[in-house]
Amino acid sequence: MTQPLFMVGARGCGKTTVGQALARVLGYAFTDTDEMLWRSTGKTVAEIVAREGWTGFRARESEILTSVTQGNVVVATGGGIILSAANRGFMRARGTVVYLYASAQELSRRLQAYPEEDQRPSLTGKPMIEEIAEVLAAREKLYQEVAHHVLDASRPPDDVVCAILQQLYPSAAS
Ligand code: ADP
Ligand code: MG
Repeated sequence: MTQPLFMVGARGCGKTTVGQALARVLGYAFTDTDEMLWRSTGKTVAEIVAREGWTGFRARESEILTSVTQGNVVVATGGGIILSAANRGFMRARGTVVYLYASAQELSRRLQAYPEEDQRPSLTGKPMIEEIAEVLAAREKLYQEVAHHVLDASRPPDDVVCAILQQLYPSAAS
C-alpha cells in the first residue's frame, strides 16, 4: 500500500506520537498539519484563531492538508480537520484514514499531564473534562464516518502502532 495515511481523532489521542512511530516503521515521511501551520505562519493555533477566527484557521488547515498529501506519508491532522466535508472527502479519496479513539477521561488525563504541549483556545469555555466530552460527542460520528480503520488508542503507543499495522496488512506475518 503506497498511499498517504491520515491520523484523525481528538486532541491528545496520539495522532502525532503514534503517527510518528508508524511512519518510522513503514519508512514513510511524517508530517503534522498543526506543525506545518506553525512553520508556514510563524503563529500558534491560539494566535491564528485570535487574529483570523476559527474560520480563518480552518481554511489554512485545509490548504495545508492538500499540500502535504503526496507520496508515502503519514499525516497527523488537527482534531477538528474532520469538521469540513471537503477535508473528509479528500482524505478518504486520497488515502487511508485511521481514527484513534480514546475516552474523554483518558484524553483529559493526558492533556492535564502535559498541558503545555498542545495549547489550544477553549472551544466552549467549560472545564476541560466537560469540554472534551462535549467535543467528542459532537465529532464522534464524523470521525467514524471518515475512518477506514478505528483503533483503541488508550493502549501504549507501540501497541497502537502494532494494531494499526495488523489492520493495514492483515496477511503480513507479525
Ligand atoms: P495528538 O497529536 O493527537 O493531539 P499527541 O500525540 O500530541 O496527541 O499526544 C498527546 C499527549 O499524550 C502527549 O503527551 C503524548 O506523549 C501522550 N500520549 C500519546 N499517545 C499516548 C498513548 N497511547 N498512551 C499514553 N500517552 C500517550
Ligand atoms: Mg498532534
